[in-house]
Amino acid sequence: MRPRFSYDAVVVGAGPNGLAAAIRLAQRGLAVLVLEASDSVGGGARSAELTLPGFVHDVCSAVHPLCLGSPFLRTLPLDRFGLKWLNPEVALAHPLDEGEAVILRRSLPATAAGLGADGSAYARLMEPFAAGWDKLAQELFRPLLHWPRAPLLWARFGLAGLQSASRVARRAFRGEAARALWAGLAAHSGLRLEAEASAAFALVLGSAAHAVGWPLPRGGAGQVGQALAAQLRALGGEIRTHSPVESLEALPLSRVVLLDLTARQALRLAGRKLPASYRARLERFRYGCGVFKVDYALRAPIPWRATQCALAPTVHLGGTLAEIASAEGAVAAGRLSDPPFVILVQASLFDDTRAPAGHHTAWAYCHAPPGSTCDLTEAIERQIERFAPGFRACVLARHAMHAVDLERYNPNLVGGDINGGAADLRQLVARPVFSPRPYRTPVPGLYLCSASTPPGGGVHGMCGFHAAETAWRDWFA
Ligand SMILES: Cc1cc2nc3c(=O)[nH]c(=O)nc-3n(C[C@H](O)[C@H](O)[C@H](O)COP(=O)(O)OP(=O)(O)OC[C@H]3O[C@@H](n4cnc5c(N)ncnc54)[C@H](O)[C@@H]3O)c2cc1C
Repeated sequence: MRPRFSYDAVVVGAGPNGLAAAIRLAQRGLAVLVLEASDSVGGGARSAELTLPGFVHDVCSAVHPLCLGSPFLRTLPLDRFGLKWLNPEVALAHPLDEGEAVILRRSLPATAAGLGADGSAYARLMEPFAAGWDKLAQELFRPLLHWPRAPLLWARFGLAGLQSASRVARRAFRGEAARALWAGLAAHSGLRLEAEASAAFALVLGSAAHAVGWPLPRGGAGQVGQALAAQLRALGGEIRTHSPVESLEALPLSRVVLLDLTARQALRLAGRKLPASYRARLERFRYGCGVFKVDYALRAPIPWRATQCALAPTVHLGGTLAEIASAEGAVAAGRLSDPPFVILVQASLFDDTRAPAGHHTAWAYCHAPPGSTCDLTEAIERQIERFAPGFRACVLARHAMHAVDLERYNPNLVGGDINGGAADLRQLVARPVFSPRPYRTPVPGLYLCSASTPPGGGVHGMCGFHAAETAWRDWFA
């Protein structure tokens, strides 16, 4: 007798990738159920009053160039479900000790003009990718192993992006300002700046700033998760929160199952069903560094010494290329970095829904060794005070999470890794295994759709989209 399926597809995990996968399958007319362990949807795109009533903090993601630049998410009418982007002309400020800040603007010529003698080198480096973002995104947001549709642009990206960030900075720029800006962008990778392919992160984040901006969702990152969930429900999909999945056998019967889980969790859930050789490949998958994060409720805006910092939602605090390279190098070697490289977001300057009138929020994190439980609040605040003397006097309340707290909050943040696995060159190619269809597992009907698959971390939903397309072609096309 043929089994009676309750659903065409069950998705485990309601993060951006799980929801994107479910939406894509629902768009194809399939009956989809999403099971989410937590009490709310959104995974890494959620907001909460972490400090005081009335202060809305982004628990994980805060700034969303990859969401607005995502070939799939940008096709969804998420504005109909309440998602409104705030996209200031200034994306990022990077203050230096001399009292000035390097500014990354949406306008590439204006950014280049602020870099003095390095302006033309910056423009030459970024212009092809900023201008060709739509074509580049089609190549970037998929498994690296594919036939490119824009081979020249893709080759050009590879030539620069496969190098280390330090090497590109030292060869392309002569001044500290451009080098520091570049280093801060590359440091989002969680890699040593000397690591091959670390330059790719600077190219992607820099060109995305010029092509689509570095936007904030009005009301907080939770609006992204909520809008995706509303879009899915509008397509007939079902979501159950408070539903942790402990084994595949406990799932309702369905033709396909997609796991918005990282490699290690997938092993735990499906290990016994997986052939030994595939299991061994997942066991070899490596996680990246962890994160230490502090959220602040503030009685006043941050008192930046470089006043241009108030124009930018995101501020990079780490000084020069050499300092940032040293901070990220220490973490990669398993040590705490002090001073750390700090990524700070001041959303309430641009969004009055984030804090009571006259008050503000700040979101700040630095990298830390995987699984570190050290309290880095003091180190982060020293780094903020360096560029904003008097910051501590503005703090009404703070909420800190070390790497283990983060994993407790969301089991996908293994050891505090926010990218679903180290994003080094090897794992950009083999994510989590070397295959043109890395979403497919050897178990018929079982797929991976999390940030442990290409293109990796970030709120873009493209891992989910490609996993859904693979499952659909395999079973329903
Ligand atoms: C501190 C921090 C800052 C970040 N900043 C940014 C940023 O500014 N911009 C950006 O683009 N990205 C940012 N990211 C990264 C981004 O949040 C992630 O890359 C993205 O959310 C990954 O999406 P995902 O769907 O693969 O996984 P997740 O978003 O982690 O979702 C996985 C979901 O699965 C659920 N789950 C886990 N196990 C089970 C189970 N057994 N049963 C049922 N459900 C389960 C989890 O509860 C979770 O909801 C940040 C992340 C962190 C932690």
